[in-house]
Amino acid sequence: MRKKIVAGNWKMNTSPQEGLALAKAVEAKASHGLPQGVELVVAPPFTHLSAVAAVLSKVGLSAQNCATHDSGAYTGEVSASMLKQAGAGYVIIGHSERRSYYGETDQSLSLKMAQLLKNGLTPIFCCGEVLDERESGKHFEVVEAQVANVLFQLSEEDFRKVVIAYEPVWAIGTGRTASPEQAQEMHAAIRGWLRGHFGDSAAADCAILYGGSCKASNAQELFANPDVDGGLIGGASLNADEFWAIANSF
Ligand code: PEP
Repeated sequence: MRKKIVAGNWKMNTSPQEGLALAKAVEAKASHGLPQGVELVVAPPFTHLSAVAAVLSKVGLSAQNCATHDSGAYTGEVSASMLKQAGAGYVIIGHSERRSYYGETDQSLSLKMAQLLKNGLTPIFCCGEVLDERESGKHFEVVEAQVANVLFQLSEEDFRKVVIAYEPVWAIGTGRTASPEQAQEMHAAIRGWLRGHFGDSAAADCAILYGGSCKASNAQELFANPDVDGGLIGGASLNADEFWAIANSF
């Protein structure tokens, strides 16, 4: 049985105090009982990780990025091992904002993936097409290449540690959510490519999350799809009540 996961990507939001208060509020809800079989994860900015880790026990902790190297002269970077030591269990990589604003490529993502696996962290690997690619009918081709270029070089054993987040870029932060049919169609396609490469069992066990303007009012119809195993939530994860409502939408 694959996991159901609802992960909150806080992006570059919240002061340390606000982040701690938000983490405590999410943890307080989770401590009264998580929805059956659902893992809840929050991804605060790097600076908040250690303090947030100290107040979480039911809720998982993620970082939003990691360095391509172990250590050394990489000013401004944060290594996977530092994230692990700060208390993270997950790390988001390949978010479209990082691909488009910070030049993240399949090649740099492969290095990051290797760092995460080496350090026992769970990668949340993001993929997704931009609006032009969808409108010109290239979305399957684009997402298949993103998945293949980074994931198909992994062993099946390593691949089994990866969570995928399909995030159509045109839906991120725009209020324009993919329809449940569009989400299911792409999730099923991703699972099909995984099946072709890693086999039935590994593909069936992989959690594929949907991200892009997912909120309490649309989570239920998105999560009802057989290949949608939860969500990567941006804006709506900054409010504990809304985030909790999304986690209860299965
Ligand atoms: C995200 O940043 O991963 C995301 C899905 O953002 P939003 O929910 O705000 O569209």
